[in-house]
Amino acid sequence: MEIKDLDFTSKKVLLRVDFNVPLDKEHNITDDTRIKEAIPTIRYILNQKDTSVILMSHLGRPLKKLLPDGSIDSTSFSLMNIVPRLTELLETKIHFALDCIGEDARVKADNLKAREILLLENTRFHPEEEKGDANFSHELANLGDIYINDAFGAAHRAHASTCIIARFFTTDKKAFGFLMEKELLNAKRLQDNPERPYTAIVGGAKVSDKILLLKKMISNVDNIIIGGGMAYTFFKALGYEVGNSLVEEERIETAKEILEEAKGKIQLLLPVDSIIADSFNNEANSKIVDNDNIPKGWMGLDIGPKAIIEFTNLIESSRSVLWNGPMGVFEMSSFAKGTKSIANAVVMATDKGAFTLIGGGDSAAAIHELGLSDKVSFVSTGGGAMLELLEGKELPGVKAITDM
Ligand code: AMP
Repeated sequence: MEIKDLDFTSKKVLLRVDFNVPLDKEHNITDDTRIKEAIPTIRYILNQKDTSVILMSHLGRPLKKLLPDGSIDSTSFSLMNIVPRLTELLETKIHFALDCIGEDARVKADNLKAREILLLENTRFHPEEEKGDANFSHELANLGDIYINDAFGAAHRAHASTCIIARFFTTDKKAFGFLMEKELLNAKRLQDNPERPYTAIVGGAKVSDKILLLKKMISNVDNIIIGGGMAYTFFKALGYEVGNSLVEEERIETAKEILEEAKGKIQLLLPVDSIIADSFNNEANSKIVDNDNIPKGWMGLDIGPKAIIEFTNLIESSRSVLWNGPMGVFEMSSFAKGTKSIANAVVMATDKGAFTLIGGGDSAAAIHELGLSDKVSFVSTGGGAMLELLEGKELPGVKAITDM
């Protein structure tokens, strides 16, 4: 069922959100997009008759980053860090449970009155969350009457609070939130009959993370643009010397396969030139060279001016665009130009009527930082989740709602 069709009257609603936001060393939120994106669903539920909301989320990977004594860093990974911003955005008091299950959560959930909000502590403080443990899921499920999943950023994980928990709710008691609906709807525009020409821009550092997407894209798109660090694995596959540029040696064969497979089917563009540097440093010496001419000891850290022109022309003449991954080390100002130019080209394409989707992760961060989020068709909140969806995989968090 859809959220609009559920009867929320007098219900306690368990809402899985994605509050996995980046925090600085003082635990200040550096990008609150994911919190803001969850607000419409929270408000909608609170506006129903006599409802209350119990929010659950994970934050970071606390079990992978234990303190030296082996305990959980319950300060850095606490969802308590989110409370001030959430209070500000919702203009209401937020109750907080010190654990997501157990006595405190149960009592606070039981005592929750209509129009009140309870936020549970980080679900990943328990190993059972990532294991998708059924008992743990059941305990979470017992806190509420209805389950709504609005955590698109975590929908590719079969975890307790994103997937297994849905088993404990009948079809009339579970649904996607508005953010999930929006993410799935926008992804669909690229999955089913996208307007052509359709161009996928794939950048970033890791070929291995995006290999499946690239393979899938060959049968889906008209053009693939490969930029960023991953381009150098392809240059190595073509037999070029790439100096100290980033190369995933074990993926060179796969890169060869992709180049071969793309031949005659689609247009695959690699950057003609690069900005190369003599060290991985914003102040390093740098120069522009063609990519078949990278000297020993130098590394490519951004696409060059010829590549920018070629990529821009192709993007601006496309009717559908998917962008995942920056064109260079955009965190350093000396190597951010390629990413900025591509972001502007995507905006231009949108202006001309193209459907443009930014697939989460670093390209979403770049577009937010440049203040261009409102000038493209859609910026996804889920990096990995959006990639897996466009690779053609079924997301466990989605299946859990639609299948049962
Ligand atoms: P990914 O998570 O695969 O999207 O990779 C994002 C990261 O790729 C960013 O932190 C960029 O700094 C990095 N990156 C982009 N281009 C390069 C490059 N030419 N060399 C090294 N790292 C890069």
